Amino acid sequence: MQALSSYAAGRWHTGQGKPAVLVNATTEEPLAEVSSEGLDFAAIVEHARERGGPALREMTFGERGALLEQLSAAIHEHREELIDVSIANAGTTRGDAKFDIDGATGTLAAYASFAKGVGDRRFLVDGDGVQLGRTARFWGQHVRVPRPGVAVHVNAFNFPAWNMMEKAACALLAGVPVVEKPGTPTAMLAWRIAQIVVESGLLPEGAFQFVCGSAGDLLDHLGPQDGLAFTGSSRTGKLLRSNENLLARSVRVNIEADSLNAAVLAPDVESSSETFGLFLSTLVTEMTQKTGQKCTAIRRILVPAERVDEVRDELVALLEKIEVGDPAERTTRMGPLASAAQLRDVRAGVDRLAGGAEIACGGSGPIRDKGFFLAPTLLVARDASADLFHDEEVFGPVATILPYSGDAAEAAALVARGGGCLVSSLFSNDKAWAEAAVLGMAPWNGRLWIASDKMAEQALPPGMVLPQMVHGGPGRAGGGEELGGLRGLEFYLQRTALQGFKGLVDGAFGAPAE
Ligand code: NAP
Repeated sequence: MQALSSYAAGRWHTGQGKPAVLVNATTEEPLAEVSSEGLDFAAIVEHARERGGPALREMTFGERGALLEQLSAAIHEHREELIDVSIANAGTTRGDAKFDIDGATGTLAAYASFAKGVGDRRFLVDGDGVQLGRTARFWGQHVRVPRPGVAVHVNAFNFPAWNMMEKAACALLAGVPVVEKPGTPTAMLAWRIAQIVVESGLLPEGAFQFVCGSAGDLLDHLGPQDGLAFTGSSRTGKLLRSNENLLARSVRVNIEADSLNAAVLAPDVESSSETFGLFLSTLVTEMTQKTGQKCTAIRRILVPAERVDEVRDELVALLEKIEVGDPAERTTRMGPLASAAQLRDVRAGVDRLAGGAEIACGGSGPIRDKGFFLAPTLLVARDASADLFHDEEVFGPVATILPYSGDAAEAAALVARGGGCLVSSLFSNDKAWAEAAVLGMAPWNGRLWIASDKMAEQALPPGMVLPQMVHGGPGRAGGGEELGGLRGLEFYLQRTALQGFKGLVDGAFGAPAE
């Protein structure tokens, strides 16, 4: 069996001790084993700080951007092979594998292009300069400079490629070395990408390290210039956020956690409209893509009470057409869940939701003898205000219709019950309704996706995280923020206010002349 190794302090290590076994999500056959036991985590942190960081900070943003572009191309060259790894280990269909892998290379390429706007500088100018004294001689300017630390990235199992490289793109462009730790159940894809990154020789030694398996005591070695960016469940996020060393040394922490994303149908949307067609197709995509294992997947579907039967029937008809099966088959539209633990958790979650809802299609029962399969499952809540539907993230192809009055304020209040979301979507051609819903929902969402007849034809789905726009959400979603163009670098940079003689402050650190 393949033993997945870690890349630490300049060489590959195979862990000792009892390994975790990774399996094929379709056949349940063992594929690989993983252990990080025996790694010297203090040495990993030191290696990044002493080798990777200085080498990256020597470069300008433009030079680091050029590296990202080459990394993107190096990974893209292996696209077909990576798709096969994803299909086997994560149970993704070909389309779902591409979504993850192209998301990784696309985000690297996007950050390479953002770097072109910053050029040959080693710091970023933050806002306009400001006169502080009686005359302009005493001047102020905010700048952002790379922090001389290490960025530890603890990633979720559901996007082994994108999650690792979207974080790495921001940190490396900012000039900060990374230590990447993938979610163990699907680590094979991340490991293969790590091999490609290391073998490419593009990055300076120490700029990229990879821990496959447990994070050990890695977090206990972080200090005030380091950062931890985590993606995963809110339960693990809470645990990591309360790590004593991170608290004691004010280590920066960014948490991207789970989310009960909502889709809201406004009462004005007619059944014959493009917006209604987009509403249905978006729901089917967001429920079934990656077998619903997306942090941005729609879990709560708010529908005016008198339209519930219509929406349920339309959705059931579409979901029952979804071909569920071996993801290696090109006709398959939805593969298995990624692991036995996932299947167990999702089944239990469906049973809990069914305590307050009717199952319109699917359910928690088995649909194949082997593999971690579950049918797309739609429920209709008996009472939209029940806590259950706003508290329980069932991380699979599962969503619940929640009837509401059609009032924008009521919709916003129900969305808020989720305690903070990554993204919610609204479907309306009524400008006044949409404006009211946006203002009510925005404080509870990192992103709002506003569908109407005017954009239906061009819309990219709400579950697609775009590097130009921020990703993250308040409250339950972790309170973090990633991406959003150059905003994504902020976590890795120190903002410093410079106050002094304008000739120096503005001359050396002000905005470059046009
Ligand atoms: P998870 O169980 O919380 O694990 C996430 C990561 O944390 C994994 O790499 C895991 O490693 C690691 N981890 C667990 N315990 C740890 C500890 N004590 N110290 C250090 N690391 C630790 O989440 P998951 O099951 O992988 O992912 C699914 C969840 O992620 C869902 O709730 C989903 O909504 C959320 N998610 C959020 C986003 C977002 O951007 N907001 C994106 C994707 C997923 P092991 O695998 O080795 O245990």
